[in-house]
Amino acid sequence: MSARDLTGPAGPSPVSMVGMVVAVDGTSGSGKSSTCRGVADRLGLSYLDTGAMFRAMTWWMLREGVDVHDAGAVAARCDEPDLVSGTDPTGPTITVDGHDVAAAIRTDEVTSAVSPVSTVPQVRARLLQLQRTIITAHTGSGGIVVEGRDIGSVVWPQAPVKVYLTADPGARAARRALESGAVDVGATEQSLRERDRIDSGRATAPLVMADGAAQLDTTTYTLDEVIGLLVGLVEEAGAQGAAR
Ligand code: C5P
Repeated sequence: MSARDLTGPAGPSPVSMVGMVVAVDGTSGSGKSSTCRGVADRLGLSYLDTGAMFRAMTWWMLREGVDVHDAGAVAARCDEPDLVSGTDPTGPTITVDGHDVAAAIRTDEVTSAVSPVSTVPQVRARLLQLQRTIITAHTGSGGIVVEGRDIGSVVWPQAPVKVYLTADPGARAARRALESGAVDVGATEQSLRERDRIDSGRATAPLVMADGAAQLDTTTYTLDEVIGLLVGLVEEAGAQGAAR
């Protein structure tokens, strides 16, 4: 499927956000989280960070002493943790067995273990069910922006808006290093490339550009510009929905 041009004009009003699902996938560090939160906030939509769910599962495995490179061991335990994701774009939350793990899931230890855990089919099946339950709860009323790697291809292929974000690996590493305070941009780039390699190469729900997705390379855009482009795209889809 060829990429759509995102630089065209936004559609006319009236705009309906009822049942809107915006599926945003893409490479690590392409700006998905900041973009999705900004879009959801501007349009009054909810927000789901599915990467945080995989990170929370990984955090729990590490805490339990499970070998994250042993797929059988991960599969055997992945039904145990109770994961709860908040969907407010201005303050996303995630808890595991009632513990706030929003900060703990961002450590280097979790970041380097999350892609192997995410290859395990049983982990994906469990989180897929949770993700679909959350999205379904938002389709009857206000809509939701969902970010991840397989949202447009597997989790919610019927999403009215699908976007695939990419950026030059060097730019992604520089942005990520700025956010995290890391000084070694080369090591950050290496880590991003390694996660992309595992995420794109796995057998179950690999990172791919979904059919019908609009592709946007964010390398030369500011965050505000990317948010503006996506808001235009969602409003266009909402206007088409309202006109039907
Ligand atoms: O988005 P974030 O970088 O926090 O995601 C962390 C990891 O979670 C990804 O590198 C990927 O391995 C996994 N993930 C996934 N499917 C998703 C979201 C994230 O496999 N839908």
